Amino acid sequence: TNSGITVHQTHPSRVLAGPGARHRVPGEVARLGAGRVLLVSTRSAKDAADDLAVRLGDRLAGRFGRAAAHTPVTVTAEAMEVVRESGADAVVAIGGGSAVGLAKAVSARTGVPQLVVPTTYAGSEVTPVLGETENGVKSTRRDQALVPGTVVYDPELTLTMPAGLTRTSALNALAHAVEALWAPDATAVSDAFATEACTGILDALPAVLARPDGLADRARLQQAAWLAGLCLGQTRMGLHHQLAHALGGTFDLPHAALHALLLPHVLAYNLPFAPKADARLRRITGDDPAAVVGRIARAHDGPTTLGALGVTWESLRAVAERVAAQPYPNPRPPEADALTRLLQAAW
Ligand code: NAD
Repeated sequence: TNSGITVHQTHPSRVLAGPGARHRVPGEVARLGAGRVLLVSTRSAKDAADDLAVRLGDRLAGRFGRAAAHTPVTVTAEAMEVVRESGADAVVAIGGGSAVGLAKAVSARTGVPQLVVPTTYAGSEVTPVLGETENGVKSTRRDQALVPGTVVYDPELTLTMPAGLTRTSALNALAHAVEALWAPDATAVSDAFATEACTGILDALPAVLARPDGLADRARLQQAAWLAGLCLGQTRMGLHHQLAHALGGTFDLPHAALHALLLPHVLAYNLPFAPKADARLRRITGDDPAAVVGRIARAHDGPTTLGALGVTWESLRAVAERVAAQPYPNPRPPEADALTRLLQAAW
């Protein structure tokens, strides 16, 4: 971008979206030419995974139902045993970002194709990114080969999301789109995706929370989260993701809840330095974006402060110093004193 030349890179994937799309999974597996599927899931997706297992019939070779947050390498090692025993030639994941992360980790170790069926708004299914934890340390890598080749968005699978997860996971998606708006490597395409993602999330989320079984609004929210995931895959994330990474990794915090409570504070910190993002978000919200997002975040029925998540006040300075010292793009210089005040406000 220093030269005025923008680079837009896309990642090949085939996406099916719509109510009942999950029933197309066996056909998509056949399309891949795979005959021995490893099915991975999280506990919450057990019913949907059981149903899929029946529909896969002879093509199902093994199951692993203990996908965990932040893709611990010890859990992946257990899943790899099932891969070896079953001779899997494809991995199908159904669940939130944890299940998708495990599919990526298995595919990275074996080269087998991935077909993923996301049940939250985390967006990992369309990114070339994998974060894995070993001995409590999270490291992230980026590789085109990590992008799942097939994604199936079925809004019916999101009907079981509790109100709290719906709210926080949608704000997690909003954070991807917001950071794409102020990213230095934003392009006309990422700006369009991010603007439409923010519009869709902020429009559909209140409707979904008012009527959680409304399938049309659920579908709208899921499609906005898809766009937000593409933003995450296409641009470099800034301060918000650095803070979430540092806090989440150090204190093992719930991913979506942490993103949700941080976002209003990062908006307030960055927007005065990010005119394009500020203008677009003001147009979408018709108000001060930080205040609007703050009202949505604070209405969460779970923890809404770092203190309530168990982070100690004394640790905030060290986190701020660590995040200030990292190299990443951000519209406002991340300065340790100011970041300490940001974290204290979130505490
Ligand atoms: P998750 O997958 O851990 O799910 C959170 C909780 O919600 C779990 O208890 C899960 O069982 C439950 N759940 C999921 N879907 C549900 C549904 N439809 N109904 C009821 N309950 C449901 O969390 P997440 O927020 O989806 O994903 C977080 C993980 O994904 C983290 O490990 C994060 O690092 C990773 N992630 C990675 C990327 C990437 O691009 N690599 C992007 C976003 C998130």
